[in-house]
Amino acid sequence: MVQSSVLGFPRMGKLRDLKKATESYWSGKTSRDELLAEGKRLRLEHWKIQKAAGVDIIPSNDFAFYDQVLDHIQLFGVVPERYSKYNLHALDEYFAMGRGLQKEGVDVPSLEMVKWFDSNYHYVKPTLQDNQVFKLAAEPKPVVQFLEAKEAGVVTRPVILGPVSFLTLGKADRGQSVDPISKLNELLPLYEELLAKLKAAGAEDVQIDEPVLVFDLPAKSKAAFKPAYEKLGNLGDKAPRLTLATYFGDIVHNIDVLPSLQNLYGIHVDLVRNPEQLDTVVGALGPKQVLSAGVVDGRNIWKTNFKAAIEKVELAIQKLGKERVIVATSSSLLHVPHTLESEKKLDAEIRDWFSFAVEKLSEVVVIAKAVTEGPAAVKEQLQANAESVQSRASSKRTNDPAVKARQDGVTPEMHNRKSPFATRIAEQKKSIKLPLFPTTTIGSFPQTKEIRVQRNKFTKGEITAQEYEKFIEQEIAEVVKIQEELDLDVLVHGEPERNDMVQYFGERLTGYVFTTHAWVQSYGSRCVRPPIIVGDISRPAPMTVKESKYAVSISKKPMKGMLTGPITCLRWSFPRDDVHQSVQAQQLALALRDEVVDLEAAGVKVIQVDEPALREGLPLRSGSEREKYIKWAVEAFRLSTAGVTDVTQIHSHFCYSEFQDFFHAIAALDTDVLSIENSKSDAKLLKVFVDEKFLAHIGPGVFDIHSPRVPSQQEITDRISEMLQFLTPEQLWINPDCGLKTRGWTETKASLTNMVNAAKHFRKQH
Ligand code: GLN
Ligand code: ZN
Repeated sequence: MVQSSVLGFPRMGKLRDLKKATESYWSGKTSRDELLAEGKRLRLEHWKIQKAAGVDIIPSNDFAFYDQVLDHIQLFGVVPERYSKYNLHALDEYFAMGRGLQKEGVDVPSLEMVKWFDSNYHYVKPTLQDNQVFKLAAEPKPVVQFLEAKEAGVVTRPVILGPVSFLTLGKADRGQSVDPISKLNELLPLYEELLAKLKAAGAEDVQIDEPVLVFDLPAKSKAAFKPAYEKLGNLGDKAPRLTLATYFGDIVHNIDVLPSLQNLYGIHVDLVRNPEQLDTVVGALGPKQVLSAGVVDGRNIWKTNFKAAIEKVELAIQKLGKERVIVATSSSLLHVPHTLESEKKLDAEIRDWFSFAVEKLSEVVVIAKAVTEGPAAVKEQLQANAESVQSRASSKRTNDPAVKARQDGVTPEMHNRKSPFATRIAEQKKSIKLPLFPTTTIGSFPQTKEIRVQRNKFTKGEITAQEYEKFIEQEIAEVVKIQEELDLDVLVHGEPERNDMVQYFGERLTGYVFTTHAWVQSYGSRCVRPPIIVGDISRPAPMTVKESKYAVSISKKPMKGMLTGPITCLRWSFPRDDVHQSVQAQQLALALRDEVVDLEAAGVKVIQVDEPALREGLPLRSGSEREKYIKWAVEAFRLSTAGVTDVTQIHSHFCYSEFQDFFHAIAALDTDVLSIENSKSDAKLLKVFVDEKFLAHIGPGVFDIHSPRVPSQQEITDRISEMLQFLTPEQLWINPDCGLKTRGWTETKASLTNMVNAAKHFRKQH
């Protein structure tokens, strides 16, 4: 019998229950016991859902109050002394590492948080000491939660992060120089102990995640697999059988590691992302080893095409036999929303194309049954699935011939501005009069409670569109007046009409749909609700022109139009899986191109196209994949901005500071002005712009926008002095790190006053 398996289930609950519970605990409204009880309730509920769906292999220890990697930090005692010294309750120490703690004499910032592979989930980075001593928690969470499930009548397969990935994803703590992987031999005995405890608790199987196998691994990490799994795979009856899981990429380039894994029970690979790795992986399996075939997408919301998935599994079965193949989700379902059932407002036609976590459970079950008993056993499901797949492929909502025709008409010249930067900037200087060290902001101003209240009223129909527009105009007028008083040079309208920088545009484009409850965890208690691209994208009408035009009309100062770039619109949505992402990016680019041209025609002389997500789209491995991505992503950006004349100034913005490995992509965007985050980083990072002879103007952020703290004028002056060691006065713009939407007005005004005064100070000197 071919078994069905799930690698992990979303933790938040149907209505973001976990978010509510943790935040309520953080704010002191509920007790620790209440939070622990809610966690337990959610775990039990999620196990029961999976059992009821008929899933054979159900995960445990996939639940985390904040992050699964942070769980392992505590599990193995990798807690830096600055946290442990307070002797907090384990749960509070855990949250202190995740989000920092400033309360009752405790004052520690959080550990670093970084993106989990190429997903929008973020994990907490393990930080090791030079003299790191590992220590297994007295009551290891994987054991406790395995027993909890067992008691509730659900036999689970605990999930743990493997030692090579845990160490490779970590780093040396501040002021330390240890290479984490060099500590492998000291960590392995704890894994042995943990596995023995799991076995003693009754666990027959364990899923051990080693996702770093999809990376281009540093030699030391790669070499670590052999000693690690020779140990962990040879514990005999003392340990559960191990299934090693990889996802989000292929492992072909690391296939020589597989022989060292042959004492493991099984290997899981992602066949949604990289179906072509099947042959190579199957060829490298040991004689009895099982293949867990990830054929149900853990990263996207589309219904699985049963026919295609079954074909993939059958291929594996032909080579290995039924008893050596498992049907699985490609990765944990952490990255998809909980259930489609909560979506009451979705159009029925479109709803039928989606499958969220709960729905994906039945998918693995049906596929496993189809290959075990033959298609007749699930005839109805296969039939309905084929109809749904067919309806999506032929729907008018997915295919728009006009969009296709327009894409066919895209020429190479459409990606190029008319003249090179030097010519453009000379033209711009004549038309946009700016002092040296021009000051500006990144776009948004505080999104006050009043703005949210009015937006809610409008959404609920409690005020009319006219009333809402009037309110937005007043907000814009107010923000413009404040900026004039602050004496900023290039103003913005403040984005009060935008709920979110992607959703706002998605709502104005055809091809997008929105959900009401489809939240996915981004980090800790923070969830995002990405819009879904279902069909060809076009722009029925201007999206931002009215607000920008109004802003232009009420001020003599240059006004900057504000758009979200094609790659960010794509990356922060659930993309289609039926056409390549480059095609979707080009459609978005064409829609934005029209908007850019319309803004220019409306008298907006400066237009900023934000692309904070450009870098996170980078394929995980270097090489041709990455180059291909950079090519189409850069082309999309250029297509969106190159429709204007030389006098119109194109800005772009990025929320990060390191461009070393990414410089040529940024330069290739051919923007006139670039703003980046820099306030918390070393100004030396700007050196790359000098070394690479970057000519365009650049505004490295001079203050952090994540904190209410007001930087003094002196601090900003010092910062600018440092920047001037690398950039020329003609080139340097003065701005904050990012938009100010999460800030309050008091600190915003104070910070910007100091920023403007600092710029004026330098103007006097030059
Ligand atoms: N223009 C956007 C803002 O100011 C940019 C946000 C971002 O880069 N994440 O809010
Ligand atoms: Zn930003």
